[in-house]
Amino acid sequence: MDLRSSEPFWLQKNGLLNSYPSLQEDLETEILIVGGEITGSLIAHQCINDGFQTTLIDRRDIANGSTAATTSMLQYEIDVPLSALIAKIGKEAAIQNYQACSDAIDTLGALVKEVKSKCGFKKKKSLYFAAYKKDVAALKREFNARKEAGFPVKWLESETIEELYGVSHTHGGILSDQAGSIDAYKLAHDLLKFNSKKGLCIYDKTIIAHVDYGKNGVQVSLENGRHIKCKKLIYCNGFESTEIIRENFVKLLSTYAIVGEQQPEKLHMENLVVWNTANPYIYMRTTTDHRILIGGEDEDYVSSTRREANLEKKAKKLEKKVWQLLPDTAFKRDFAWAGTFGETKDGLPYIGIHPDFDSTYFVLGFGGNGITFSVTGMELVSCFLAGKSHKLSEYYRFQRN
Ligand SMILES: Cc1cc2nc3c(=O)[nH]c(=O)nc-3n(C[C@H](O)[C@H](O)[C@H](O)COP(=O)(O)OP(=O)(O)OC[C@H]3O[C@@H](n4cnc5c(N)ncnc54)[C@H](O)[C@@H]3O)c2cc1C
Repeated sequence: MDLRSSEPFWLQKNGLLNSYPSLQEDLETEILIVGGEITGSLIAHQCINDGFQTTLIDRRDIANGSTAATTSMLQYEIDVPLSALIAKIGKEAAIQNYQACSDAIDTLGALVKEVKSKCGFKKKKSLYFAAYKKDVAALKREFNARKEAGFPVKWLESETIEELYGVSHTHGGILSDQAGSIDAYKLAHDLLKFNSKKGLCIYDKTIIAHVDYGKNGVQVSLENGRHIKCKKLIYCNGFESTEIIRENFVKLLSTYAIVGEQQPEKLHMENLVVWNTANPYIYMRTTTDHRILIGGEDEDYVSSTRREANLEKKAKKLEKKVWQLLPDTAFKRDFAWAGTFGETKDGLPYIGIHPDFDSTYFVLGFGGNGITFSVTGMELVSCFLAGKSHKLSEYYRFQRN
């Protein structure tokens, strides 16, 4: 599967940060992580912290798939509004899930400090605005649900949004105190480098040919004839998990993003991440080097050829959106790209065991909150490996709906 089209901003900004060898010998390890991007690097950090002998492999270069393409907004608010999630899974469970994403932002902040990552982690506020007048009533209901649940929210009218943040053409929105942004490509590299010094073995461009899942462990056969034996395998293989899981558990989409040239002056929305009620929604943030980054224009994933062909048309639409939303800003497009994205029915990730794979866990942080879900995944994996249960695992299990 092609995880992205064209060269994303983060890859060009950072270049190839670290390169690792491919595996050319047989190996035994307690934990084998498959997938070396943001999720795999977070889970590897947890496994090393918990004292496990850990190996990580990837079929590509490290962090070269969706994590290189992400806009890396960190949000406690998931793709399914709290009010809708309450209707799906009940009030207590829905609030717990929102709270977990909120906690994940602070956990990630602490982790960035611990590994001394220069990934530009920054706490921000979040603006979720009504894209159309007809969306206002539902958004106010969402505001009330969040307020009642104790989340730090304010309702802002469109004039106030324009005055405070320079964001135009809204119909009011929810301002939340809890949000953030990072460069996930850089963080994945920094986490892996940090943990490789603590014993994590990392191999990229390592291709799996076959896997035998046993009750007492897993044997992975590589294309080059080498083998890896492990007690537990943890798949952090993102959207490519659809290659090995039979049921249809995630809807794959293509999403498009553009980033502008550096702004000469600090923007009013510098400390804000922005998204809206449109379907598909737009998402927007600034980078540490004062660029505006906007994404959206999602469509069903058909093929990378079609995505490539649509890129210019979609980039132009996103450009127009910036001119409309930020009329006082001189926005000039610098880079455009697209990536694969996944949507689940309840907006929640899949983290845990699957009946078809013995001795194996999956950590699949889908949706607009993929990164915060992967941070929560660290806690779940730590519990699973210690033989304990976790209160969120029933909401993240496979075959739940
Ligand atoms: C344009 C765009 C904007 C986004 N914006 C946001 C956002 O603002 N906030 C947010 O939280 N999320 C966002 N996302 C989603 C986010 O990017 C993903 O949730 C996240 O990058 C997934 O990371 P991952 O490590 O789970 O998967 P991936 O980054 O896809 O990594 C999976 C890795 O597994 C490897 N792999 C797969 N199968 C095998 C195999 N058999 N053998 C070896 N290796 C294998 C792949 O090579 C790949 O490197 C966005 C995504 C896109 C495309």
